[in-house]
Amino acid sequence: MVAGGGSISGMIQRSTDLITPGPALVDPFGRAVTYIRVSVTDRCDFRCVYCMSEDMSFLPKSDLLTLEELDRLCSAFVTRGTRKIRITGGEPLVRRNIMTLFRSLSRHLDSGALEEITVTTNGSQLARYAKELAECGVKRINVSLDTLDPDQFRKITRWGDLSKVLAGIDAAQDAGMSVKINAVALRDVNEHEFVPMIEWAHKRKCDLTFIEVMPLGEIDGERVDQYLPLSQVRAKLMDHFTMEESSHRTGGPARYVRVKETGGLLGFITPLTHNFCESCNRVRVTCTGTLYMCLGQEDAADLRAPLRASESNDLLDQEIVRAIARKPKGHDFIIDRTGDRPAVGRHMSVTGG
Ligand code: SAM
Ligand code: SF4
Repeated sequence: MVAGGGSISGMIQRSTDLITPGPALVDPFGRAVTYIRVSVTDRCDFRCVYCMSEDMSFLPKSDLLTLEELDRLCSAFVTRGTRKIRITGGEPLVRRNIMTLFRSLSRHLDSGALEEITVTTNGSQLARYAKELAECGVKRINVSLDTLDPDQFRKITRWGDLSKVLAGIDAAQDAGMSVKINAVALRDVNEHEFVPMIEWAHKRKCDLTFIEVMPLGEIDGERVDQYLPLSQVRAKLMDHFTMEESSHRTGGPARYVRVKETGGLLGFITPLTHNFCESCNRVRVTCTGTLYMCLGQEDAADLRAPLRASESNDLLDQEIVRAIARKPKGHDFIIDRTGDRPAVGRHMSVTGG
């Protein structure tokens, strides 16, 4: 049995269910919501300094959606025109039996209802799961990696082992998946490594994206100390590389350049210095079924209650439609030098990256 209810064989039986498309989800600003990011757990086997405090308390497992409920929820969005699902966390690959969810969701890839299932992972479990993920139709994954120095890696992640992550990236590429590396830019921590990281990533055919630290959740240190504006990073990188503007877009916050010397793509996610909301096509669901219409706002809708209220998806669907009708125009992140509270109280590991 899957924790909290439905049997795994039951889910696999459901895998023949076909989707009858309903009307698409369009928000009040005319943006179609075609992409959901689903956090399948708030737990993690790392404790990255910018993401969590070392002594985190996690949700009781009974609060989490079961794998079957996660499947129903994702499928309800697919019915409404979602074309892309990203599975994230916490660390998604530490959730018990998580491959069951990938296997069952892959039916939507087979039917053509869904274009893509992707994963954001810290890579610690990838060596074990890469082949299975590829078999479930996952073609692209994002691996978070902020440094190539084993000691620094241990300092940033507190509990991580760089060699396992590198082995995971190898396994993912061997399984035929394309790997994008995400690195959070941290002042005085990894900024001196950006040039070798770009060369390393592009040499192994991985695109690389730098992310600015976002003010999400209480952590042990000070955000202002970690914050490094990517405008500064980009200016310094121009001493080493020729960066050509690229039209590559994912509907998300990243803006890309092509590095002439390496031929690879380099992305910049700058939530604090740029507003990227006008083309936002996504919403996020937490592992307890809370739907956030914007990463940088508190307004949310509870999808767990309608999921559990009946076996049919009608109530769930109604709640999703109601929530999308209030998707805000944009976020208002602030890193406040005087205040001691983050702009958004929940951690990235709760909403999912
Ligand atoms: N554990 C997985 C991982 O690390 O890839 C998935 C979840 S993690 C929350 C997703 C992404 O969010 C990671 O790339 C991580 O570096 C990033 N992240 C976490 N906290 C952040 C913060 N406060 N600001 C910016 N990025 C953050
Ligand atoms: Fe875990 Fe990912 Fe957060 Fe690091 S960024 S603590 S790997 S959830």
